[in-house]
Amino acid sequence: MAWTEDRVETLSKLWADGLSASQIAKLLGGVTRNAVIGKVHRLGLSGRVKTSKPAKRAPRTTTAKTRTTAPSMPRMPRRTAIIPSPVPIEAKKLPSGEFATIMTITDHMCKWPLGDPSTSDFRFCGRSADKGDPYCKAHSQVAYQPARRRGVPSPAIAAAQKRRAIR
Ligand SMILES: [Zn+2]
Repeated sequence: MAWTEDRVETLSKLWADGLSASQIAKLLGGVTRNAVIGKVHRLGLSGRVKTSKPAKRAPRTTTAKTRTTAPSMPRMPRRTAIIPSPVPIEAKKLPSGEFATIMTITDHMCKWPLGDPSTSDFRFCGRSADKGDPYCKAHSQVAYQPARRRGVPSPAIAAAQKRRAIR
């Protein structure tokens, strides 16, 4: 069908109104969408960007393969080395509220000496000790380490070693 002046005018108007080429083709009748587009170009009306179809986008086929970075591992909290500090370990009070003394100490209590034996402050650790062990776990660790390294009073070491020898 020929582009009469009327039809060109209608086309121009519809195009200006924002109708798509296919809509215009339908309204005009007798022309294809492509014919409308061609005419629009020839008329120099193609400045309008809007078309019936959304602008083509680059196909999204790269979603999976372009992922080069591996999923990051959850960050672990930095571990701080737990260094046991066995000394000094305070004496444990007995149920009576007193500290263990030479009078109250039993075989099942830690005999780690605390304080000056010549004073009334002297006491024993008093924590429960394993059977046959003179000291509680904490004091055993201290007692059985080299005195020079730990600076443990030698009498305690000697006593501990003696006890060990007997066992
Ligand atoms: Zn102890």
